[in-house]
Amino acid sequence: MSYEPEERPHNFIRTFIDEDLASGRYTKVATRFPPEPNGYLHIGHAKSICLNFGLARDYNGHTNLRFDDTNPVKEDVEYVQSIQEDVKWLGFDWDDRLYYASDYFEKLYECAEALIKTGDAFVCDLSPEEVKEYRGTLTEPGRNSPYRDRTVEENLDLLRRMRAGEFPEGARFLRAKIDMASPNLNMRDPALYRIKHARHHRTGDKWVIYPMYDYAHCISDAIEGITHSICTLEFEDHRPLYDWVLEKLNWPAPRPRQIEFARLNLEYTLMSKRKLLQLVREKLVDGWDDPRLPTMAAIRRRGFTPSAIRLFCDRIGVAKKDSWIGLDWLEKATRDDLNPNVKRVMAVIDPLPVEIVNLKEGEKRVISAPYFPDEPEKFGARDLFLTKHILIERDDFMLEPIKGYKRLAPGREVRLRWTAYIKCISYETDEKGNVTRLICELNQEPTTVDEKGKPARPNIVHWVSALYSNPIKVRLYEKLFKVPRPTGDLEGELNPNSLIEKIGRLERSAADARPFDRFQFERLGYFMVDPYPSDEEYIVFNRIVTLKDSWAKRTKDKANKK
Ligand code: ATP
Ligand code: MG
Repeated sequence: MSYEPEERPHNFIRTFIDEDLASGRYTKVATRFPPEPNGYLHIGHAKSICLNFGLARDYNGHTNLRFDDTNPVKEDVEYVQSIQEDVKWLGFDWDDRLYYASDYFEKLYECAEALIKTGDAFVCDLSPEEVKEYRGTLTEPGRNSPYRDRTVEENLDLLRRMRAGEFPEGARFLRAKIDMASPNLNMRDPALYRIKHARHHRTGDKWVIYPMYDYAHCISDAIEGITHSICTLEFEDHRPLYDWVLEKLNWPAPRPRQIEFARLNLEYTLMSKRKLLQLVREKLVDGWDDPRLPTMAAIRRRGFTPSAIRLFCDRIGVAKKDSWIGLDWLEKATRDDLNPNVKRVMAVIDPLPVEIVNLKEGEKRVISAPYFPDEPEKFGARDLFLTKHILIERDDFMLEPIKGYKRLAPGREVRLRWTAYIKCISYETDEKGNVTRLICELNQEPTTVDEKGKPARPNIVHWVSALYSNPIKVRLYEKLFKVPRPTGDLEGELNPNSLIEKIGRLERSAADARPFDRFQFERLGYFMVDPYPSDEEYIVFNRIVTLKDSWAKRTKDKANKK
């Protein structure tokens, strides 16, 4: 892959890996990305993908893609497909190492019998309510199950009959025999296998017992020769169990090492699969790829690039403590990524007509303007046409300018991007007093002076010719939630104005834009043509991100000086 990040800060995971390689514990690095195929991926998963694949890349190791499909009830092949697409889209490759935890069901079962034989597991008949009662609390130890002392023979017989489908769900389950007094609740004889009479999307009806995540995960890692099993912080308390299982199975060295990091929380949005599903089901957003969502499908559709997402993930780094990342990190990475790679064109998204009195009907002045002013050679130039009727942005005019307003107003002057100056000499209104048209005079040089009597340096506004432009629909995305750290109260926290649609106009040179084409609309932001073909007469653009600084505020605009 050609991608070279600008910065790759050292972090505690790299320190662990360096130590493990130096001590000879491992001679290579192998990681895995282990999604459960029970939902669409989101930007939090992207962090995990970039971390796992990125570490393997940097240490010349490899990364496996493994579907953690141990819960047949919630899983679906549809997700298996979309997850693979998302990982590929991000620019990562698992080569031929696509695995499923269900590939290991037979081996996992053998291990369960092995644990019974060493006296480390037993079949327990307590009901779910009784299990809860026996577990104890954080401050009180639990009690041993009355079935804990079953003989090896009895346990083996029961487990085999569980596998054969002799018992209903919930009748019994396989448990590790560890320590009911452990201060770590995960070590109080946790469940290893449960009965589930459910069809599995890959193994069909072959199994009616399914392994628990904690049990299946460490063995799957070990089978695949994973060295560093990187997961999110909530698994920290599960690590002793991870190690215990492999220890009791006497798994040969080198065994995998579990390392936890803080999950990504992004401000003004939510990652919970449950909440995302609710947003989609209740039609509070327009499907899984609604560009306001943090799902990978939405990120693609909105126009974010894979390299921007990788840059974002690199920059936020990994931490050992949960925190929230501001949206500005994502926006900044996106601007930095798009800035050198997209053409600049002009579009007006809230048009106000302007009539230029000293241009004739039908007259057109041809202006050649580079697509990338900082390096004019980069994308070449296009022609703009200055005509008697043009459109400017409505908020570039104020009838009664407030103090400090530096753009157009009656008697005031601005420069049109790439060309001459216009001065507002009059205007028209509708019956309600709304300005409907400006009448302006075109001048090659500024005609106004500043407070000190010096020739003014009017601000620059973007514009399009009314004739040589095409209608477009733009979708302006705002924050999905009103509050930076949503709790999931959709009614109270959703931003009612998270999508604003406008009909604007785009300069003619970009009229043939195709789905996925990206542009910077000068002063407005970065936009991408929506991937879905539009059935309306105009192209639909999604705003990816705004521009931080519009150049109207910049006094020195070298590129515009001729
Ligand atoms: P579930 O609650 O269904 O387990 P999950 O978000 O953990 O949801 P998985 O499919 O198990 O979904 O996640 C795959 C991998 O992505 C896991 O290793 C998980 O730790 C990681 N991951 C999930 N969410 C985040 C997040 N917000 N930030 C970083 N990593 C994440
Ligand atoms: Mg998970």
